[in-house]
Amino acid sequence: MDAIPAPKSKFITIKCQDCGNEQTAFDKPATHVKCHVCGATLIRPTGGKGEVRGELLGEVQ
Ligand SMILES: [Zn+2]
Repeated sequence: MDAIPAPKSKFITIKCQDCGNEQTAFDKPATHVKCHVCGATLIRPTGGKGEVRGELLGEVQ
């Protein structure tokens, strides 16, 4: 059986669509990731990769 690569967790930078705040978050969150400034939901947990609600600016290396 082929080895399955471990799922890589990474951090992404998201821009809040409501207030323009940019913040870094885990891309597979267990809970809703909210904007630190206005409280809008930025990432919705789906059990796997989170559903990004804001503007995805990129991955944090
Ligand atoms: Zn915001």
